[in-house]
Amino acid sequence: MADKNVLIIGGGVAGLSAAVELANLGIHVELVEKSNFLGGRAIGYACKAIENTCVKCGACMVEEKLQSAVSHSNIKILTGSQVQNISKNHRFTASIQQEPLVIDREKCTNCGLCLDQCPIDRAILQGFSKNNHPFYAVNKERCLYFKDQSCTICKDECPETAIDLEKKASEHTIEADAVLIATGFQPFNPKDKPYGYGRFKNVVTGLELERMLKQSGRVKKPSGNKLLQKIAFIQCVGSRDVKLNHLWCSKVCCGSALRMARLIKERQPETEITFFYMDVQTFGKDFEQFYKEVQENIRMIRAIPGDFYEMDDQRLKVNFVDNPTHETIEEIFDLVVLYVGINPIEDIGTLSRMFKIGPDEFGFLKTDDKGISVSKTGVFTAGTVQGPMSISETIAGAGSAVWKILKYFGE
Ligand SMILES: Cc1cc2nc3c(=O)[nH]c(=O)nc-3n(C[C@H](O)[C@H](O)[C@H](O)COP(=O)(O)OP(=O)(O)OC[C@H]3O[C@@H](n4cnc5c(N)ncnc54)[C@H](O)[C@@H]3O)c2cc1C
Repeated sequence: MADKNVLIIGGGVAGLSAAVELANLGIHVELVEKSNFLGGRAIGYACKAIENTCVKCGACMVEEKLQSAVSHSNIKILTGSQVQNISKNHRFTASIQQEPLVIDREKCTNCGLCLDQCPIDRAILQGFSKNNHPFYAVNKERCLYFKDQSCTICKDECPETAIDLEKKASEHTIEADAVLIATGFQPFNPKDKPYGYGRFKNVVTGLELERMLKQSGRVKKPSGNKLLQKIAFIQCVGSRDVKLNHLWCSKVCCGSALRMARLIKERQPETEITFFYMDVQTFGKDFEQFYKEVQENIRMIRAIPGDFYEMDDQRLKVNFVDNPTHETIEEIFDLVVLYVGINPIEDIGTLSRMFKIGPDEFGFLKTDDKGISVSKTGVFTAGTVQGPMSISETIAGAGSAVWKILKYFGE
């Protein structure tokens, strides 16, 4: 197998898992990741263990895969990179465009001085895992140097001279015997829903809440560190929505939100949590017991609220129809968390044309279940690029993609 090379597009948990499995079999892997950091969405998720007892949220598995991938000698990683073209003549030949690597991986010691000294908010980005080296990246959209060259503070202050703001983009050519597309999902953007997302400070998404918990261990109001008494969780934002023609269930959000609500309740027992939902998706074999415990501490309301209003003190007025009485109730919350659904990524059309795999009716890139058509072309898919799934399902699916690749190689 040492003569085989696989190109993996996407460095989330799907791409990382497949890379590690292939690499362990002696296959060379070239992993191309669009963003500056590996780990995909799930590397920003908080561990939801209660009193050191694992609740199987999957967050730690992503870190494990990331750690194994970055230290594996059979895996070559290109971050800030995208496939521009691909052709096949026995093998695949892919041209890759890589953004300038402004922070030198070899020189950077992850000291964080660049972030501390930078005068512009979010001009230096920070990853969620220190296994991502460097742990920092320059955000060209916000950096003053890339706007008008008026600031070089990060470069000047870096004690390791690891920052080169004039670094140019580079091009690479990769030869591969098979390609795995693991480009993941796009969270639904709730800005067009009547929930004030992007306008009201104290309306956040479930993914933003995950990152907040991962970074600081507690929930705070984005408007300021004032008392947090009441949180509303709203499920199915952008999922099972006829008006949007997003009819699918994102499957993972109920489990994720309920585990999160229980974690917050344990860490901040003074906070009251209300959970607005349509139906609760069951998950895992311990679901019944878990759900019973959750209902003792979390107020469950089977309704999806209508419009929200922001009050002068930045709390939120939420209207909903009470299910048994059909009365409209108005209630005030300090923080509202929107559990946004799993959508196909925006450039799914480009990938679909490049690899000649048609998206399914919802826009996800599905492989043939029997693996027939796909295994003949040498192009495979894994993870949420195929549709909603959890971290453990993603890892299992990546394993199955590896098996199909081996079958394609005739092993
Ligand atoms: C609100 C919410 C909460 C969730 N909570 C949980 C939970 O508690 N437990 C759980 O098990 N699951 C949870 N999930 C699901 C979990 O996020 C996914 O299972 C997991 O992220 C799937 O990994 P992936 O690798 O398929 O995709 P992603 O995490 O999306 O990673 C894909 C990677 O591909 C890269 N990429 C995209 N396009 C390109 C391109 N053209 N070229 C190169 N790279 C590209 C992206 O930058 C990204 O790094 C949740 C999902 C949501 C929406």
